[in-house]
Amino acid sequence: MNSERPAGFGTRAIHAGQQPDPTTGAIMTPVFLTSTYVQEAPAKTKGYDYSRSHNPTRTALEQNLAALEGGRFGLGFASGMAAIHCVLNLLRSGDHVIAGNDLYGGTYRLLRTLYDKFGLTTTFVDLTDLQQFEGAFRPNTKLVMLETPTNPLLRCCDLGAIAQICRRRSVLSMADNTFATPFLQNPLALGCDIVAHSTTKYLGGHSDVVGGALVSNDEALHKQLMHFQNSCGGTPGPMDCFLVLRGTKTLHVRMQRHCENALAVAQWLAQHPRVARVHYPGLPSHPNHAIAMRQMRAGGGMVSVELKATVEQAKQVCSSFGVFSLAESLGGVESLVDHPASMTHASIPAEERRRSGLEDGLIRLSVGIEDEADLIADLDRALQRLR
Ligand SMILES: *Cc1c(COP(=O)(O)O)cnc(C)c1O
Repeated sequence: MNSERPAGFGTRAIHAGQQPDPTTGAIMTPVFLTSTYVQEAPAKTKGYDYSRSHNPTRTALEQNLAALEGGRFGLGFASGMAAIHCVLNLLRSGDHVIAGNDLYGGTYRLLRTLYDKFGLTTTFVDLTDLQQFEGAFRPNTKLVMLETPTNPLLRCCDLGAIAQICRRRSVLSMADNTFATPFLQNPLALGCDIVAHSTTKYLGGHSDVVGGALVSNDEALHKQLMHFQNSCGGTPGPMDCFLVLRGTKTLHVRMQRHCENALAVAQWLAQHPRVARVHYPGLPSHPNHAIAMRQMRAGGGMVSVELKATVEQAKQVCSSFGVFSLAESLGGVESLVDHPASMTHASIPAEERRRSGLEDGLIRLSVGIEDEADLIADLDRALQRLR
């Protein structure tokens, strides 16, 4: 890939970071199942000395993810939480964080139950309200953590505006791009400092691996993050890296179908008599539709729906599907349904959940790439439980 013009997304997805193996010509990056590397003389290595620090399969993945996000540096982690944990370690006791008020439950848990005891304080705000956001800054604010679209309400905040405010105040910004993926949205290009991913989701794409990643552009920042990655050792194994690398090759094709199916599902649900509200950034009725369409290529693969139902009925609906599987997680080729209040978001206190708009009757769909007609027939059958 040394042509003059920058390669398109699909070409980068398939080739970036990867060359045929020089000894055999194998077209696929080998899974380097090795912990150590033989040195020609003390400290004379071929660039690898120990696999917590570096492993060639991981290097290929890190370069591939950096290329997809349009960044210079990628870092692989054992999970999305290990990646986000790494970012928090840039801070010190006494620092202040501003975070979105409907962040991934695990990120909320990390801030609330593990980091506040080290004297790190966090203010949770609605990041779609820039005035509220600006009002949350304190002299000791060092980091802004955001997601867009958020989980599970799929609210979209203005990445460019938030990044600009952070830059003006010399505060770091981290965007968790797990839901949108680099195919749909590129936070670094809009001015964010760090992009975080749970590669467990769309990047891996096949529900067969847990992993995480960070991508950044600033070399000094990257070195700090890499120092932490190596010191704490939350790194992914080579087989995991191989699986994510295999997933990213088809990211663009999968995302196109995820988006088409999700839009069809959202449109179908929006006209259903037992549906109170559909949350999907690709629908014009979504409150952040305009900003979503400005910074995203399409609406994404996630749809949340508030049923005209009690909690018990909503749970019953969740257990009535034939094609959608009742499970946590998202972003795989197969469709999943989740009841956030009792599953993925159960660690957030009920009152706080409702205050941020997460109703008990909300169900979240990770729309897969099966046939659209089968997904809609399955939803139709399940919603008949509410008759
Ligand atoms: C799943 C997820 C995470 C956590 O990633 P793991 O790989 O499960 O550790 C973080 N952020 C978002 C938005 C997620 O969906």
